[in-house]
Amino acid sequence: HASTESLREWEAQLTAEFQSYKNAGLNLDLTRGKPSGEQLSLSDAINEILAGDLSNETDTDLRNYGGLDGIPECKRLFAPVLGVNQDEVLIGGNSSLTLMYFAVLFALHQGFGELGDSWASEGGPVKFLCPVPGYDRHFSVCEHLGIEMIPVGMDDNGPLMDEVEALLKADASIKGIWCVPRFSNPSGIVYSDEVVTRIAKLGQIAGKNFRVFWDNAYAVHNLDDNAPALACLMTACRAAGTENSVYLFGSTSKITYAGAGVAFAGMSPANLKAFKHHLGMTQIGPDKINQLRHVRLLKDSNGLAAHMRQHANVLKPRFDIVLNSLQENLADTGMMQWTVPQGGYFVSVDTLPGLAKKVVAMAAEAGVKLTPAGATYPYGKDPQDCNIRIAPSVPTLDEIAKAMDVFVCCVKLASVQQKLA
Ligand code: PLP
Repeated sequence: HASTESLREWEAQLTAEFQSYKNAGLNLDLTRGKPSGEQLSLSDAINEILAGDLSNETDTDLRNYGGLDGIPECKRLFAPVLGVNQDEVLIGGNSSLTLMYFAVLFALHQGFGELGDSWASEGGPVKFLCPVPGYDRHFSVCEHLGIEMIPVGMDDNGPLMDEVEALLKADASIKGIWCVPRFSNPSGIVYSDEVVTRIAKLGQIAGKNFRVFWDNAYAVHNLDDNAPALACLMTACRAAGTENSVYLFGSTSKITYAGAGVAFAGMSPANLKAFKHHLGMTQIGPDKINQLRHVRLLKDSNGLAAHMRQHANVLKPRFDIVLNSLQENLADTGMMQWTVPQGGYFVSVDTLPGLAKKVVAMAAEAGVKLTPAGATYPYGKDPQDCNIRIAPSVPTLDEIAKAMDVFVCCVKLASVQQKLA
């Protein structure tokens, strides 16, 4: 353990370094979990690819209304991404978040068709389990719809299932759980086979009309060829007889264009029937021409994998800079813990308890924007104030390196000051 004197010396050095970053007038941003321009350009062929040829497998004129659940060739392309049968998939518009919002809204107020009543009709509060740290927009959906959120911890295998199961057994008003099962946002972990099996069985112990919201947003977003696979949830559900207890989601927002991709949902035929009935109240059909463009561009699972390898080539060096910087500067200091993701869009780091907000504020002072501390928790409240989400996809390699220098300096300075306080 360092003496107070040497800590003071270190504090002085770090303060000088911090001051030099402030003087440099930097303007760097590690907040944006979106593809870079270079990544978007990988899909630019999509703009010319139809060349006026709208021939497809259906009789539907793709220019016209209709086809609420999408075109068959697009279902064939994306059903395997979710791990569901082709009669269990719906291809929608450009946003899976919209499909998720509707799924929650319909469950809350419209119900499940032949399967039963809405959550709201039960009369009590409606609650969701939220594995943390998690995706802030999942939490906003709950907040917007008046659903109470209960945070649950996670480890390297996924949500803490003993806790999840105990909570569900004790409280029938818990109607959902948010899951980002592969390259979780933000921790990057992949749910273990055992966790997937246990999640598939939640429908057996939960209250009426419980649903797992399985947001597989990063299903094919490997950074490494040897990244861990995810067990198939629907297969596990078939074994457990719980097919009706899960909704699966995904999109090409981080495969093709984030603003003009296609989104998809997977669910049992019974769930799909009810969902389509309600969705049909909001639109007559999705953009089927965009769906065809995606089929022509990506073709099949092999085409998709090859396309994702190009993304990995762009992303991997960015993640490496972040991870190498953490390793070189903060390993064995006891000041920071982090995950080493093999896919997805984020590196999740934990400061010493009580320092995340401070580090984010200090970095901002020195011209480095970070996602607000707490954003990865329901209601924006990280009880430990320690989690920070780093998103390296958009800045250049040089910018990431500079931003990490500043970040590391802030973490060290905040930690040293805490020790001295
Ligand atoms: N789900 C997760 C876990 C995400 O991280 C994101 C975007 O960052 C989304 C969903 C948004 O998906 P979409 O663009 O399909 O609405």
